[in-house]
Amino acid sequence: MTCVFCDISKKIISSNIVYEDERILVFKDLNPQAPIHVLIIPKKHISSVDELKEDDKNLIGDIFLKINKIAKILGCKNGYRIVNNCGRDARQSVLHLHFHFLAGRLLKWPPC
Ligand code: 5GP
Ligand code: ZN
Repeated sequence: MTCVFCDISKKIISSNIVYEDERILVFKDLNPQAPIHVLIIPKKHISSVDELKEDDKNLIGDIFLKINKIAKILGCKNGYRIVNNCGRDARQSVLHLHFHFLAGRLLKWPPC
């Protein structure tokens, strides 16, 4: 089964990478919804939050503990929003776990 984010993490598909380590990739969203809009993904294929297992605890903790580093890299001084869409009703369109990092403007709430 092909997965666009697996292909991005393997560099088969190019992307604008802002941070990378052994387990995580952060790259610019193709269709940005804010002046700063990057996607944070595990390199390991996990379909969604709904598929997370006990074994993924460390990986997810690692992703969240990297967010303040990503904010510094991107120069976000006034805050940011982390969004995860899970499943059909949330309009998840890519079935590889990802967290949207949005910043650079005053964001509306609720997101709707
Ligand atoms: P979702 O709707 O699943 O929460 O978010 C998927 C996101 O992936 C969307 O914001 C979309 O713009 C982005 N996206 C989809 N395909 C690609 C791609 O090939 N490259 C990049 N950089 N972003 C993509
Ligand atoms: Zn994948």
